[in-house]
Amino acid sequence: MTRIVFLGPPGAGKGTQAARLAAELGIPHLSTGDMLRAAVAQRTPLGLEAQGHIEAGRLVPDDLVLRILTERLGRPDARAGFVLDGFPRNLAQAERLEQITPLDLVVAFEIPAAQLVERLSGRRICPACQTVYHVTNRPPKVPGRCDFDGTELVQRPDDRPEAVRTRLAVYAQQTAPLVDHYTRRGLLRTLDATGSPEDVARRLRQLVG
Ligand code: ADP
Ligand code: AMP
Repeated sequence: MTRIVFLGPPGAGKGTQAARLAAELGIPHLSTGDMLRAAVAQRTPLGLEAQGHIEAGRLVPDDLVLRILTERLGRPDARAGFVLDGFPRNLAQAERLEQITPLDLVVAFEIPAAQLVERLSGRRICPACQTVYHVTNRPPKVPGRCDFDGTELVQRPDDRPEAVRTRLAVYAQQTAPLVDHYTRRGLLRTLDATGSPEDVARRLRQLVG
């Protein structure tokens, strides 16, 4: 059983590594950001309520995110373990998560702020399958098109500079304190998130064992 949380600032490479590690371990990659963007795309009531917060770079209210995450964690495939990416984002969410499931490991991604801005400004995603690209670091085979389904890639509205500034401030104020929280619980391991995706994946495998 491998129940892992990825903690780290926006653009640190959590989603990229989570997709890869989850595939290797045969457990689901649970990204609350992906779940919320899917709800926005489907125009569900929850998605419509979340949309303004996401696009401005603010956190979505805890009760909305918890509703979507609790439903997903309750599905049978999550019983064998999971890589949870983007949750918890504040202390209240961490406390709620403790009531839902125990954890085995929390990985804190560490990276200088200047590299975050470079990674976020070049990020493009496939709106159909959520695969993450970068215009220079991880370009698709055909420019502007997803390698897997040919869908036109898009820039996330919250990767524009103003929303990025808000997201970095929200991370520093609300999410970064979770590093201490999980250190106290003996669950935290830090990960050097600089270098190529392959370098980071190698270091991550050493942490996970
Ligand atoms: P997060 O989920 O932490 O917000 P992502 O995994 O979406 O981060 O990565 C942010 C951007 O940086 C994406 O465009 C991704 O392709 C790119 N990226 C991810 N890992 C690396 C890396 N090790 N080196 C360079 N670029 C990376
Ligand atoms: P991400 O894909 O993890 O970068 O998340 C994108 C956006 O979705 C965030 O900036 C928030 O607006 C929202 N979001 C994702 N996860 C959470 C969460 N755990 N709590 C609140 N908002 C979240």
